[in-house]
Amino acid sequence: MTARWSERQVAMLREMGVQHFWPLQPEVPPEASAVARPALPAEPVSAAAAVAQALPQRALAPAQAGAAPLGPRPIGVETMDWPTLRDTVTGCEACGLCRGRRNTVFGVGNTRARWMLVGEAPGEQEDRLGEPFVGRAGQLLDRMLAATGLTRAEDEAERQVYIANVIKCRPPGNRNPLPEEVAQCEPYLLRQVALVQPTLILAMGRFAVQSLLKSSEPIGRLRGRVHDYHGVPLVVTYHPAYLLRNPADKALAWDDLCLARELVQSRA
Ligand code: SF4
Repeated sequence: MTARWSERQVAMLREMGVQHFWPLQPEVPPEASAVARPALPAEPVSAAAAVAQALPQRALAPAQAGAAPLGPRPIGVETMDWPTLRDTVTGCEACGLCRGRRNTVFGVGNTRARWMLVGEAPGEQEDRLGEPFVGRAGQLLDRMLAATGLTRAEDEAERQVYIANVIKCRPPGNRNPLPEEVAQCEPYLLRQVALVQPTLILAMGRFAVQSLLKSSEPIGRLRGRVHDYHGVPLVVTYHPAYLLRNPADKALAWDDLCLARELVQSRA
């Protein structure tokens, strides 16, 4: 398979820091290209228990900063419309992260986008602005999207993605969210996915990937194939903040974007 990039794409790839424009997307063997479903427990378990079983041990450490008793979980999230869902998240006190936030980070973009990007949790700047993926990581994400023919700009709805996080409130000190916090917050993301009905979810970063897939596998072993998140194909890639620290892996992230783009185009 030979990849052919337009001059514009090559320029975008250079902006991403990808220096070589070889056929970056390897041939995917048939067994690997099949949708891989995450292993689910045989017996029903609570969401909190499922996440607690799946997340790496580091995230299970007790008594981390900001951990606090859980508040009541909102009911009826699974049937909420967009305004009700947004208002519910804004006022949510279902876990201790509500105590340290300046803003909830609900999500942005085209609410009927074909691409849905899911990140980890708000950082300091996201918490301040109430928007996901801002700062240098956000700028790199914008260049990655542009190289793929996508945008988060509101005036280009056809190409606009939808972006959300697994967790809507900033964990103190940017620690990993606790399993019970993920479990409390996940219904909001599930409802966002149900309302957007994306063709594809692009999960960005180790924490988001492991939370969504209920897996403790590293990204390197989960990328390069198509997973399933509640019936929606899911492709795994690195977080832009990681790519800023590890620029050599930008070529792998481009592979992931190519895989995702091929999948979306195959379902056009
Ligand atoms: S992180 Fe999620 S569950 Fe916790 S308070 Fe914020 S919105 Fe509610």
